[in-house]
Amino acid sequence: MLIQKTTTPKAKPVDESALTFGKVFTDHMLMINYTEGKGWHDERIVPYQNLDMDPACMVLHYGQAIFEGMKAYKTADGRVQMFRPQDNINRMNKSGERLCIPALPVDKVVDCIKQLVEVEKDWIPTAPNTSLYIRPTIIATDVALGVHASKTYLFYVILSPVGPYYKEGLNPVKIFVEDEYVRAVRGGTGFTKCAGNYAASLIGSERAAKFGYSQVLWLDGVERKYVEEVGAMNMFFVIDNVLVTPPLEGSILGGITRDSVIKYARHKGLEVQERKIAIDEVMDAARSGHLNEAFGSGTAAVISPVGMLRMDDEEVVINNNEIGPIAQMLYDEITGIQYGRLSDPFGWVVEVK
Ligand SMILES: *Cc1c(COP(=O)(O)O)cnc(C)c1O
Repeated sequence: MLIQKTTTPKAKPVDESALTFGKVFTDHMLMINYTEGKGWHDERIVPYQNLDMDPACMVLHYGQAIFEGMKAYKTADGRVQMFRPQDNINRMNKSGERLCIPALPVDKVVDCIKQLVEVEKDWIPTAPNTSLYIRPTIIATDVALGVHASKTYLFYVILSPVGPYYKEGLNPVKIFVEDEYVRAVRGGTGFTKCAGNYAASLIGSERAAKFGYSQVLWLDGVERKYVEEVGAMNMFFVIDNVLVTPPLEGSILGGITRDSVIKYARHKGLEVQERKIAIDEVMDAARSGHLNEAFGSGTAAVISPVGMLRMDDEEVVINNNEIGPIAQMLYDEITGIQYGRLSDPFGWVVEVK
């Protein structure tokens, strides 16, 4: 692969403990082009740069855009590792299939990303709970205004040293149950990480913010009755010590952290149920003291406890607005594997040289 190094490296963040999410980018990026008939070609690592786009570029009009989110971690002894990267690229291909974007060669792309991380390894922060966020993206690049699938695409990967995703850190977040707008329906694009899903969700976040809430809990798009997920996290509830999470039926994103939580919890002997959960069941459990914990799962925050839930005009407090023992255990164990503090019984970690 062509590797073109920058001649003007940027200054790295001095105070790593002040890192937030996705504001600082490293010196290099990975690019791979797709052309119909030729496939994915010309993989290269180049200096971080602006993209040159025609105003008629298809992604700007019809939104053929998908992305991924994963991380690289530095271990205490200086090794660099990633967490389940093949799963991210496989998922990107699932998103792509739904949006008529051609599939990436998974092993080759993971290898290219490893090389990019290797080039940028000095950008991986080492302060507690920091990491290097990896953002693969595909956009449609044909210059044409007819509505059809593009015949050319750009895949690119940018990197960002990050701290906690939510300013609350591991402290509980307040969640607003959205009962007016919906995020996705079965048969739609809810299971994909396509850009349009997030544009459609912004209005819910703004509404929640008006009430002082940082996140939206989406309900199903048909009956507005069953819990789906939060903006960029899957949801888990601990009801009478059983871990319950909505099933993957097409409208929610199949989180890799969700899958890791389910597998780890079962490995620890906890009962996990993937089943439909009515929001009324959650509120009833909260009122009657059966809702032990609630938390979200996602790459950015790993585990994010939920301390308060608001539905209509009613607000319930969960576990005294504190992180619960199951959320804490899962956070400690999963981050322990990611940062190389604990052994990895599942083969999730991929070492970058
Ligand atoms: C990315 C994302 C998640 C979490 O997925 P992970 O693979 O665990 O990071 C959950 N829900 C939505 C809508 C997302 O975009």
